[in-house]
Amino acid sequence: MNFFKAGTMSAPLLEAPAQVWADLFAHLRTQGAGVRESGAFLLGHKSESRRVMTRFLPYEQLQADALHNDYVTLSAASFSKLWEFCRSEGVAVVADVHTHRFGPGQSRSDRANPMIAIKGHVALIVPQFAQGNVCLQDLGLYVYQGEHRWIAFSGSDVSQLVRLS
Ligand SMILES: [Zn+2]
Repeated sequence: MNFFKAGTMSAPLLEAPAQVWADLFAHLRTQGAGVRESGAFLLGHKSESRRVMTRFLPYEQLQADALHNDYVTLSAASFSKLWEFCRSEGVAVVADVHTHRFGPGQSRSDRANPMIAIKGHVALIVPQFAQGNVCLQDLGLYVYQGEHRWIAFSGSDVSQLVRLS
């Protein structure tokens, strides 16, 4: 049985307050300025079946030069900062998000290098550097399976997997 198969799901994979979601996309749009990738960790609470985002932490707040390449990279020191932040704020990483210049498909590097290499980790990709009006069905949503394998969702499947409240 494919647990994530759209249409048979009783609950969304990821939930977020609509305002926090809107703030996140506004940040990605501004930070990338239509010319470069930007990204963030989605933080909140998760259980086996439920991931609720309550806030986000932009990559450049962990590492000033995270976005200076033409793709996003974070050092080991930045991950230490992330875990320290999560500990002190009592939150967990529920997903990550980054933008692409063109479509929402994963690059070879995205597939090979999950930000969090834990089975079930959720990665979102936003097309067009998050410029303009981005709808849920424009996004790519990827669930890490381990060993560099992912389950990929796009289009209306994403709007079923993400619930904004
Ligand atoms: Zn990418």
